[in-house]
Amino acid sequence: MRKLPAPSPRLGRWVLTLPSFLAGLFTLGLGLFLVISYYTDRNSRSELMEQDLLWQKQAIQLQMSNTRHELESLAATLAANGLTSADFTARTLSLIQNTPELVSLAYVDETGQTRWRTPLNPAGNEAPLSHRNLIAQRSAVLLADESVYSMPITDLGNKNSLIALTVPVKLPYAGRHFLIAQFDLNRLLGQQVPWWIGQRYQISLVRPDGSVLAHKFDRRQDPDKLAQQIQLDVGPEHFMLQARVYREHGDWRQNALLVALIGLSLLMLASTWAMRRHIRERQKTEALLRRETAMRMAMEDSLVTGTRVMDLEGRLTFVNRAFCSMTGYSAEELLAAEQIMPYWPPEELDACLAINRRILAGESGSSGFQCRFQRRNGERFDARIYAAKLVDGEGQHIGWISSFYDITELQREREALQASHERFVTVLNGLDAAVVVSDAQSGELLLSNPQYNTAFNLPEEHERCCVLPLLPREQTAALPGEWFDEYGQHWYQIKSRPSIWVDGSLVWLEIITDTTALKDAQQREQQQNEQLQQTSRLISMGEMASSLAHELNQPLAAIASYATGCRNLLTQAEPNLRQLDQAIEKMAEQAKRAGLIIRGIREFVQRRAPHRSACAIDQLLATVQVLLAAQVKKNQIQLDISCDPALPPVFADPVMLEQVLFNLMKNAIEAMADTPPRERRLSVTARRAESMLQVTISDQGTGISAEQLEQLFKAFYTTKETGMGMGLNICRSIIEHHQGRLWVESNSGGGSRFHFTVPLSEDSHAREP
Ligand code: ADP
Repeated sequence: MRKLPAPSPRLGRWVLTLPSFLAGLFTLGLGLFLVISYYTDRNSRSELMEQDLLWQKQAIQLQMSNTRHELESLAATLAANGLTSADFTARTLSLIQNTPELVSLAYVDETGQTRWRTPLNPAGNEAPLSHRNLIAQRSAVLLADESVYSMPITDLGNKNSLIALTVPVKLPYAGRHFLIAQFDLNRLLGQQVPWWIGQRYQISLVRPDGSVLAHKFDRRQDPDKLAQQIQLDVGPEHFMLQARVYREHGDWRQNALLVALIGLSLLMLASTWAMRRHIRERQKTEALLRRETAMRMAMEDSLVTGTRVMDLEGRLTFVNRAFCSMTGYSAEELLAAEQIMPYWPPEELDACLAINRRILAGESGSSGFQCRFQRRNGERFDARIYAAKLVDGEGQHIGWISSFYDITELQREREALQASHERFVTVLNGLDAAVVVSDAQSGELLLSNPQYNTAFNLPEEHERCCVLPLLPREQTAALPGEWFDEYGQHWYQIKSRPSIWVDGSLVWLEIITDTTALKDAQQREQQQNEQLQQTSRLISMGEMASSLAHELNQPLAAIASYATGCRNLLTQAEPNLRQLDQAIEKMAEQAKRAGLIIRGIREFVQRRAPHRSACAIDQLLATVQVLLAAQVKKNQIQLDISCDPALPPVFADPVMLEQVLFNLMKNAIEAMADTPPRERRLSVTARRAESMLQVTISDQGTGISAEQLEQLFKAFYTTKETGMGMGLNICRSIIEHHQGRLWVESNSGGGSRFHFTVPLSEDSHAREP
């Protein structure tokens, strides 16, 4: 219900970045400080070294220059006074003693012969210089007017480097002598480099190519890379005086402090980094948790099911939004309730308490509990409660969670459904027709109404497995429209159509109506019809009785006169047998004619069931012509019958068709009663119209008005005094019975024209129904 506060994303980023940034900045600052102080120290040491080196150069050059002046003054004394060997030795000895780097001093004549020498027994290291170098340098020395330094010579034996100074002794007489002094460069450095410089630097004399001639160093110390050189103006090669700083072995406490400081900075950086990662992961987890919680809350709030949580004592600890809207109480009100909940209606208090007790006792029940509750506005509602144990993450039972479903609407719908079902059942049971639903696959009976059960002797409550009885059932086809139950002697009309059943399967729905009574009525009607037709024929015959009597009279009178003639012949003595035979033959002919008339009348009047067969229309017309012959003659009718000889036979009941022709022709004759005799023309034509035979009876009679047209074919419609009004009605039903059509139209030249069609026997569709 409550939302978790979300930290500001910008602030979160700053909080995350700042410690790492500061730690990085601190480490960088410390590093920078160390580098700057290292270079500052190096610079100041470099400056100091430069000063020291300058001082050292001056000290060495001053020493060398002093010795040179000494030697030049000795040379001047030698040139002016001509010293003795003893004087020379005395003077040079003191010079050598005062100048330790001066290892020997020789007085050489112009030929290069050594005249005097101090010391007398030179140390081994002078030999190479005295023998090789002086000779090598002789030409230069002999030519020189001033003191000249030789190239430095390195004695490979004791690795001492020497340098010689040749000072010319300018004698007043011809020729030049020389003073040759040899200096040990190592001794020079040993003498001239003071202790305070020797402690700081390793001092060397190096050639321009970098090779070391002499040096002074402290074996206990290591030289550093920091070095400086300065040119020394001694000798022709201009050596370099080089100073190299000793590695400083600083105070161990200082170093330890530095190491600790760097270590601490790195540790701080690492820990800040680790903390940053930790915080990031925490933030991610928090975001996930927040999302999860928001989702859970959204789910709880979106649920349409009310949710209620109780602790083990039965106190409410949580209700969701749906529960609040279901009951109408706020969450605070509900959570504040003690033993009796505000949504328990007073009349249901005991029931509610009992359910609560059962829930607390763990009797949840698989179908839950149903109870009636009240909303804040007093409205009652039915709810179904499903309760379950509430178990926390550690598997501990901490209370009870219940789901509330408001089933008021559901119950209302159920009741409405029940009512609808009842209505459906009432209508279904009230139907006269038998209704049945059967499975399209198995033919299994799924639903039937009592009419069906009664009709087929099924028990009132039957099982689903009951198969549709009696009716032949094909799964894919609808049942035939009519079915006769031979066992029960009943006619049924069946209307069946496929449909989808409640479970989605294909079923057949059949409405079966018992048409036995209808069939009986139809049969009765048909019988009545037949009777009526017969009556109509009898009436026609009655009407024609006098004409028929007249008609019969003729053959009978002829027979009688032939009989008289025969008798007369027989009375003769020799009767003419030939004449007798002819008379008897004529008699037989007339008797046959009378027999034909009587048979025609009998057949016409006889009541018989309709029987269709192939019959020739011209023969039917001939019979009718015989029947009407007297009436035609009496009414002076001009009868005109035209019949196509190539017409195939018709498929009809001959007597019925004769009756139709008889009625229509008789009506036509009667309609022409007022027509002048000359114009009384009755024409009958029979011709083929597609697959049917079409007969047209045309007269010149009164004709038929528009009002009459509507009434004409109705039963008992007549305009005649003695008429029955059934003729045309019977004609139409006979023609329709033969799948034909009967209609009338006005004749263009006055009178009317009746047409009817009947199928020809070649039409395979024409079958007796
Ligand atoms: P009925 O001959 O007994 O009157 P019908 O059903 O045969 O009964 O005829 C009904 C009526 O139709 C007749 O009364 C007559 O008015 C009229 N009608 C029938 N045929 C013709 C015809 N050819 N011309 C004029 N009217 C006719």
